[in-house]
Amino acid sequence: MPELPEVQAHAERLTEQFRGATLTKFVPFNFTALKTAVPRPEEAYGHQLQRVGRRCKYLLLDMGDVHFVIHLMQGGRLLVDTQQSAKPRNGQARFVFAEGPALLLTEAGKERRAGVWCIATDQLAGPPLNRLGPDALEFTEASLAAAFAADNMRVHGFLRDQHKIAGLGRMLANEVCHRAKVSPFAMTAKMGAGGAAAVFAAIHEAVDEGLAYERTRTDMSSSADRPGRVHNRAGQPCPVCTDTIRSVSYSGYTVAYCPTCQTGGKVLADNTTSRFLR
Ligand SMILES: [Zn+2]
Repeated sequence: MPELPEVQAHAERLTEQFRGATLTKFVPFNFTALKTAVPRPEEAYGHQLQRVGRRCKYLLLDMGDVHFVIHLMQGGRLLVDTQQSAKPRNGQARFVFAEGPALLLTEAGKERRAGVWCIATDQLAGPPLNRLGPDALEFTEASLAAAFAADNMRVHGFLRDQHKIAGLGRMLANEVCHRAKVSPFAMTAKMGAGGAAAVFAAIHEAVDEGLAYERTRTDMSSSADRPGRVHNRAGQPCPVCTDTIRSVSYSGYTVAYCPTCQTGGKVLADNTTSRFLR
């Protein structure tokens, strides 16, 4: 799943390439691609794309009076489409411009959860963006400490919860916990100002590293390509202390961590197993 750095860098690339392009057509390839009924996409026809922005993991095509809000979900991509074939592979929807390539929303797999919302610009504060918490980069040390104190939950779960903090996913939650030297299972309300400060710094370090890498690319990376220290690296040595990276299953997710750096050497119990033992 693309996370904040991938979506942000992609928004920057597409702005560079498509700014000023005049929309002539929006073509959904199936009935689930367009998630809204009003306003109609036709209202943006003849309008120039102002910029491609990002909110959380959504891409926003700013057409002036209306915005197309695009969520890629797990397997979605918004691709530069020079071919404009009649039946594009995994095609969900296409934005056609007066000149140059189109933009093609694809989604691998059969889930069809990626999609496009056509939203009047003065209604952007409403659904679907209204359910998101503050962007990960908008937090201050103090506001993160306050959010931790207000919601006592496992820090890894907090970091992945888009209602609490928007833009991070599984990979960055792993990387942030490792950089902050906190257990992924630490309870947020017990972390205090020091814990919040460490997580705050780790968010910026991990996002900056991801952005720096992603900005060198011409397309969006898959998670295997991205720089990281623990995510998908179970069994490999920790680059900080050389202990073996471990993974543990937690509420349907695989969480990767370094025992020496994060849990005082303790190997975390698999909570999907311990549920049966209870
Ligand atoms: Zn380590």
